[in-house]
Amino acid sequence: MIHNVIKYLEYSAKHRPNHIAICNENMKLTFKELEIEAKKIATRIIEMNRGMTNKPIAVLTDKSPTSVVAFMAIVFSGNYYVPIDISLPMDRILKIVEVLEPSMLISNSKYTKLLDKFQDIPKLISDSQFVSKIDEYKIQSIVKGNIDTNPLYVLFTSGSTGNPKGVVVSHRAVIDYIEWLSETFNFDENTIFGNQAPFYFDNSILDIYLTLKHGSTLVLIPERCFAFPQELISFMYEYKVNTIFWVPSALNVLLRYKLDENQVLPELDKVMFCGEVMPVKVLNYLKRLFPNATYVNMYGPTEITDVCSYYIVDREFEENESLPIGVPCNNTEILVLNEHNQLVEEEEIGELCVRGSSLAHGYYGDWEKTEAVFVQNPLNDKYPEKIYKTGDLVKYNSLGEIIYIGRKDFQIKHLGHRIELGEIEGACISIKGVKECCCVYSHRNKQIRLICSVEDYLSEKEIYKSLMKKIPKYMLPGKIRIVDQLPKTPNGKIHRKRINQEFQSI
Ligand code: AMP
Repeated sequence: MIHNVIKYLEYSAKHRPNHIAICNENMKLTFKELEIEAKKIATRIIEMNRGMTNKPIAVLTDKSPTSVVAFMAIVFSGNYYVPIDISLPMDRILKIVEVLEPSMLISNSKYTKLLDKFQDIPKLISDSQFVSKIDEYKIQSIVKGNIDTNPLYVLFTSGSTGNPKGVVVSHRAVIDYIEWLSETFNFDENTIFGNQAPFYFDNSILDIYLTLKHGSTLVLIPERCFAFPQELISFMYEYKVNTIFWVPSALNVLLRYKLDENQVLPELDKVMFCGEVMPVKVLNYLKRLFPNATYVNMYGPTEITDVCSYYIVDREFEENESLPIGVPCNNTEILVLNEHNQLVEEEEIGELCVRGSSLAHGYYGDWEKTEAVFVQNPLNDKYPEKIYKTGDLVKYNSLGEIIYIGRKDFQIKHLGHRIELGEIEGACISIKGVKECCCVYSHRNKQIRLICSVEDYLSEKEIYKSLMKKIPKYMLPGKIRIVDQLPKTPNGKIHRKRINQEFQSI
């Protein structure tokens, strides 16, 4: 049994040194090159932080093979990585760095200006020339000393009170996930993953670590392809992609690819998806487009390491039916609990809760939020045992499969991104001149909408401009409406339900 994910890379570098591990349009790295480059940077990290281990190191990253080199370097150095997307507004990057207090920042020479903002944190420019030697002895003693409950990464996700939450995930949780995937599906050195997920999103964990374990190849698909189905298909064809794990919103693009009698991507073997509801309409179209592929609906939040249940599509579905999220993964138990903390009966709706090695440690530096959702298993009063309460409402169908119903809070999925409406409200209320605000989501129009009351001098345009500096692009409202006063409930609270109803019908 392995205790450190780096063993996956070491194995593939030894047995398939010259096989392409990861590539994009501009760059290719073999397993041996990936290992060597990562060890060089690891050596520099060890020198710079005097061998300190188990500390967070932020990687200010875009999506390129060098980001994966940096992640692996951090793992070789005995620390854990925290991907931060360089396209985020500065305000949000600062918030994340403030919570994290990283022991070091890693980036490449393209982003040195951004790094200058952080005066007091040691920085490493990973593509600079001085990184050249490898201290194999130190690296091996660190790898040997690693235990599997050590964090591997922290991924920041939207937080309801305006601050992003950092989910801390261990080596054990990722190994548990990767071993389950390997036992359940047939991946090998001929697998070519077509990556869609950004590295700060948990879906990328499958792509990265299955590639390392099986000596496969990871192809980073350029973001622009996801706007043009023809370009997307051509790219996948050129790079011989045979396995994909995307959010349904990304697959949705393929609805614009015209069906004809010629089979597209005959090599495409697995179409796996996760992160939001997969509309049956999209699935049925894909099945016609790629008739040879196996389709898998995976479900899970970042807090349980990406996936905790799955459904291999084995029958036909009508457009008005829901695709099951299926059954638990190996070594995972799903408890669907009603409001009395009892297991639900068939067709009764309850909250999906998870138990197992895949659970994250909690939220970085936030005990309160951690304790609110990582709680004692209410079915066990004999010894401490945590479950994670997902906030997702589900039920069992007559086949014993889990069916996703919706959320019990104000978290949404918009274009595949997890968003707490409270975070948008938090950003809005912090704008000078905003008195009150409420954010809702129109599922029909797939649009975030913001309603607010403000001082006279503020306009919708100015609110939008201020929001652009505070929250990521994908959180920006599609519509902003200024009103004199927000509707209130009899006890004076913002009448969210009424606002929601009004907005849904527009
Ligand atoms: P994230 O932490 O970004 O992976 O988002 C997790 C949330 O996405 C879950 O709590 C669900 O609300 C939603 N989600 C993930 N997978 C699915 C799925 N297959 N069907 C429906 N919703 C999903």
